[in-house]
Amino acid sequence: MKHTIQDNMFLDMKTKDIFHQAQEYALEYIARIHERNVYPTKDALKGLSQFDEELPQNSTNAQDVLQQLHQYGSPATTATSGGRYFGFVTGSTVPVGLAAKTLGTYWDQVTAMNVMSPIGSTLETVVEKWLVQLFGLPQETVAGFVSGTSTANLCGLVAARYRILQKNNWDINIKGLRNAPPIRIVTGKQAHSTVIKAISILGLGQETIEWVDVDSQGRIKSENIPELDRNTIVILQAGNVNSGAFDDFEKICKKAKDADAWIHIDGAFGLWAGAVQQLKHLTKGMEHATSWAVDGHKTLNTPYDCGIVLCADKEALTAALHMSGSYIIESTERDGMFYTPEMSRRARIIELWAIMKYLGKDGIDQMVLTLYQRAKQFEKEIAKIPGFYVENDVVFNQVIVRCESDTITKTVLENIQQLRECWLGGSDWQGHKVMRVSICSWATTENDIAITIESFKKALVMAMKTHRV
Ligand SMILES: *Cc1c(COP(=O)(O)O)cnc(C)c1O
Repeated sequence: MKHTIQDNMFLDMKTKDIFHQAQEYALEYIARIHERNVYPTKDALKGLSQFDEELPQNSTNAQDVLQQLHQYGSPATTATSGGRYFGFVTGSTVPVGLAAKTLGTYWDQVTAMNVMSPIGSTLETVVEKWLVQLFGLPQETVAGFVSGTSTANLCGLVAARYRILQKNNWDINIKGLRNAPPIRIVTGKQAHSTVIKAISILGLGQETIEWVDVDSQGRIKSENIPELDRNTIVILQAGNVNSGAFDDFEKICKKAKDADAWIHIDGAFGLWAGAVQQLKHLTKGMEHATSWAVDGHKTLNTPYDCGIVLCADKEALTAALHMSGSYIIESTERDGMFYTPEMSRRARIIELWAIMKYLGKDGIDQMVLTLYQRAKQFEKEIAKIPGFYVENDVVFNQVIVRCESDTITKTVLENIQQLRECWLGGSDWQGHKVMRVSICSWATTENDIAITIESFKKALVMAMKTHRV
């Protein structure tokens, strides 16, 4: 008799062949990650056409499925977990996190309710406490474990919206936004686009935003902040996505707190400075905010996807994200779904916990400080090369570089990307085209910086040739 698909799946589970096969592929992949081209080669990109097919009518052999992924998928990845990927603010993965995630993948836990995953709930409780202590936040602060800072920003702002309207005797959950008392939003002109997205999603309207001027580093000019009141959400930034600059939390939070405003800090990658002895000065005063958004997958180098919302007003967060149903089993322990928009959520806490436990306070300190030191090394070495200019004060992990003109900068960047020895993207800064170097992989060595500098040099020589003709 023909085997059913269920028979085949039982067989896959029993023989375990495909799990060994996947592990072999994975180990082969990570063995080369520090040497290989950072961006896929042209051939690798061409190979992606292998995936362009109709859904097969018949079942495909499991080995063949994995084989296709390895043969055509692996080479078409960007080597983000190596030491020379400087694009966006991406981050590598601490090995133990990858290993713990692998184990967690087999567990396939959902962290909606405690009853669904006691281990997931326990780890979330523990890590919440660790984070609050590490960042020096108010003791009553709670954490929601989400997919990234986009969602964490949304959660912080949804809590703010709930609380401000509730103080005006307006229950947003019941009455909605129509005819609701107005909410003011004050933020800097360099607020991250995910903050703006959250404001849009929440129906607060971008028109509402009272934009505050920023200085040459992208920091809010605190003296330009308007009068604040208890109906205002003030949104600040720990780590500008281009320059890495931090708003002056101490000054702004004092003013906002006196006015009883809600303060939200977008600290996707920068909040981690607050965990490091030598960099703490950058986040001084951040503990006075009401909510914070931070990523694990950037600076802390957890695998994707891992973001965290921290909120000192537990009632506002859980009321805004409330849910119920006759089948729901509430626990006296932590039910994660009350802190996040989703009900079902994978237990990303496993790898976050594993990495924090592995590193400890000292390890986090060292790892984050090293990112800063590599950024300073890059800054120092690139500034020595005629034709390159560093455009920001390098206070954390971000370096903004430009050349003589926008045209040359653009060509140099294209050449660097073509060379594939490292990868970075561009941006606009103070009216110029610039290159954005974001150092956020634990694996970046001094030698990686040296190789990168050489790549910049080659790219500049190539560009000068192009533009002479
Ligand atoms: C990356 C980033 C975000 C968005 O975070 P995701 O994890 O990509 O959702 C928000 N704000 C800042 C400052 C960032 O750097």
